[in-house]
Amino acid sequence: MTALAQLELIDVKKLYTLEQAEISALGGVDLSIERGEFISIVGHSGSGKTTLLSIMGGILKPTSGRITFEGDDVYARNEDALAAYRADSVGYIFQFASLMPVLTARENLLLPTVFSSGPSAEGAEDRAASYLGMVGLADKLNAYPSQLSGGQQRRIAIARALMNDPDIILADEPTGDLDEETEAEVMDLLKRINSERDITLILVTHSSELAAAAGRRLRMTNGSIEQV
Ligand code: ADP
Ligand code: MG
Repeated sequence: MTALAQLELIDVKKLYTLEQAEISALGGVDLSIERGEFISIVGHSGSGKTTLLSIMGGILKPTSGRITFEGDDVYARNEDALAAYRADSVGYIFQFASLMPVLTARENLLLPTVFSSGPSAEGAEDRAASYLGMVGLADKLNAYPSQLSGGQQRRIAIARALMNDPDIILADEPTGDLDEETEAEVMDLLKRINSERDITLILVTHSSELAAAAGRRLRMTNGSIEQV
């Protein structure tokens, strides 16, 4: 079972220190994720969802515990190998809009390929154009974020998360600020990516309706995770 898991979290804890007070954001999370799963995570604000995703994404080291990707301890890697994990294995859709305002849609999409250790730079221009087409924004290649609606910016952030052909997409409330129609479009897109390309989808959401579409539903409460 362990050998099959794509991502495995073993007793993962995270303590933050804030003005000498310690905050326990994760109290020992165990989780085993198989390739191609669609998992939803719901939970109140402050329950530790973003902390958990950040740890999975290789951008936040846990205080204790282990996380392995294909059997390999993520935070035991050296800086270069950890950077390669972030760039090549994970596509991250951040909770808050994260496009670079001074770059066009095309340039925002090309940005992650700069950090890829793989062959991602090859064909990057073509991929940028094709992924923008896939999210229905082929005509916005040279638009700046300020010229796009919130929903369009979200879709560009999704396209960007695909640029380095990730194994896992971590989506932190990707439809948080969207109207219902755009929310449905963004969700359809994520579900399609998950089912057609066998990319694992881990979706943090406030919406129990969206969460219900997942193959496995989890809930976070005060830094603990449970199956719904
Ligand atoms: P969620 O995404 O579920 O809203 P978070 O993971 O953002 O939850 O936060 C979990 C807890 O950790 C909260 O109590 C939050 O205030 C705290 N926290 C998050 N990031 C930091 C930080 N950088 N420093 C101190 N406390 C933090
Ligand atoms: Mg959050």
